[in-house]
Amino acid sequence: MKTMANMSLEKVKMPEQDPNVRNKNFEEVALGYDEIMAMEEATRCLHCKNKPCVSGCPVNVRIPEFIEKVAAGDFAEAYRIITSTNALPAVCGRVCPQESQCEGKCVRGIKGEPVAIGRLERFVADWYMKNGTDKTEKPQSNGKKAAVIGAGPAGLSCAGDLARKGYQVTIFEAFHKAGGVLVYGIPEFRLPKKIVQKEIDKLSELGVTVETNMVIGKVLSVDELFEMGYEAVFIGSGAGLPSFLGIEGEGYIGVYSANEFLTRINLMKAYLDEYDTPIRHAKAVAVVGGGNVAMDAARSAKRLGAEHVYIVYRRSEAEMPARAEEIHHAKEEGIEFLLLTNPTKVLGNENSEVCGLECVKMELGEPDDSGRRRPQPIKGSEFVLDVDSVIMAVGTSPNPLLRTTTDGLEANRRGCLVADEETMKTTREGVYAGGDAVTGAATVILAMGAGKKAAAAIDEYLQNK
Ligand SMILES: Cc1cc2nc3c(=O)[nH]c(=O)nc-3n(C[C@H](O)[C@H](O)[C@H](O)COP(=O)(O)OP(=O)(O)OC[C@H]3O[C@@H](n4cnc5c(N)ncnc54)[C@H](O)[C@@H]3O)c2cc1C
Repeated sequence: MKTMANMSLEKVKMPEQDPNVRNKNFEEVALGYDEIMAMEEATRCLHCKNKPCVSGCPVNVRIPEFIEKVAAGDFAEAYRIITSTNALPAVCGRVCPQESQCEGKCVRGIKGEPVAIGRLERFVADWYMKNGTDKTEKPQSNGKKAAVIGAGPAGLSCAGDLARKGYQVTIFEAFHKAGGVLVYGIPEFRLPKKIVQKEIDKLSELGVTVETNMVIGKVLSVDELFEMGYEAVFIGSGAGLPSFLGIEGEGYIGVYSANEFLTRINLMKAYLDEYDTPIRHAKAVAVVGGGNVAMDAARSAKRLGAEHVYIVYRRSEAEMPARAEEIHHAKEEGIEFLLLTNPTKVLGNENSEVCGLECVKMELGEPDDSGRRRPQPIKGSEFVLDVDSVIMAVGTSPNPLLRTTTDGLEANRRGCLVADEETMKTTREGVYAGGDAVTGAATVILAMGAGKKAAAAIDEYLQNK
């Protein structure tokens, strides 16, 4: 018997650490639902016939079905439903931009807040980590080998799907740890690393091998992988090459790319005393940019002890690409927003260390090619921001190493590998690619979706070969 829908216009609130406590620690900000909260929120789902939420999810999680199980208190079955299409639910429940995907399509969102699909997915995944009893069965081998380059969400999801089909899969990862941006980019306070590791451990149980410290294109080439007996190769090497503004002074000590700053903190644990990873503990930090990466860098800088952390963004808040939730959290934690402001020069002292950031105020003019109003400097509005560190979060692109060391791989003018949208096939036979390496910086779930498509296409290719 179906329970009556809960017609509350608001999501059940998720407990969070107090902003003035959490901005001094790296522990998780959002604390998750308990069983009662999850069951209450699950009864807000109306179980629409045409399931718009499912079409909003790049990996088509069977959302109303798992929510129905949550409402009934059958969390183990809810987990099985989610993981039939999504291998990393604890990650996606935390970091997916649900507001523009599944929740963006939820009919409850027309009049009030949508069903908290992300929070429910997170609840189910966390519940299962604590209480789940199923053992992962290692699939029967089909005798074929496939190689995956990069252990980010694209590579992990491709590897998982291939392993489930019986392939012997080896992931070659450049860093000393698997996870890609999930471990080196997204901070601990948004995505605890032990959660990522647990989801990666499940892949090991399926028989996937991860070889770390293996930079393909340097230690081994793609050709050598084929010579070693791998019959197909998936490239999920991400878009980890940071951009800079090209302004004077970017070489001073204390200027970081957001990638380097976050890697030192997350992967190399610079915030823990027992690690000797060097990082600048600045008093005042300017983070240049308005995306999620900028918010993560700013919130991390605050937690390292900076008294003032400024977001310096050349457009207004309405144009900011960061998720509304991240902007809200950053403001709550005391990050100061300098909008319509553009840096023009980094100032350095006699020791070549940052001692200020010269900026100019901006105003918005006519829309540019992207449809966003073009920012223009206001003459005479120059000023100096008193900072001793500057973090550039102004975009990244794919590292050219793989395409310049592999014959037959074509890239577009942004340096992204060219691959078919459906099969993820590149311009080189037997080589597939997906995730940020193909799209440029995007999202975890899109990378996972690409990895899944590639696994299906690799399977078809190798079965017919
Ligand atoms: C700070 C930050 C915050 C973000 N926040 C969010 C968020 O909240 N929600 C969201 O959905 N998305 C977010 N993103 C974007 C998201 O993380 C990426 O879109 C996603 O991780 C891309 O997955 P991927 O597998 O393609 O690449 P990556 O995660 O970049 O993984 C690529 C892997 O390949 C490895 N590699 C690279 N070159 C080689 C080589 N030659 N040989 C071997 N290995 C190699 C890299 O070391 C890396 O481990 C964020 C990104 C950043 C940087």
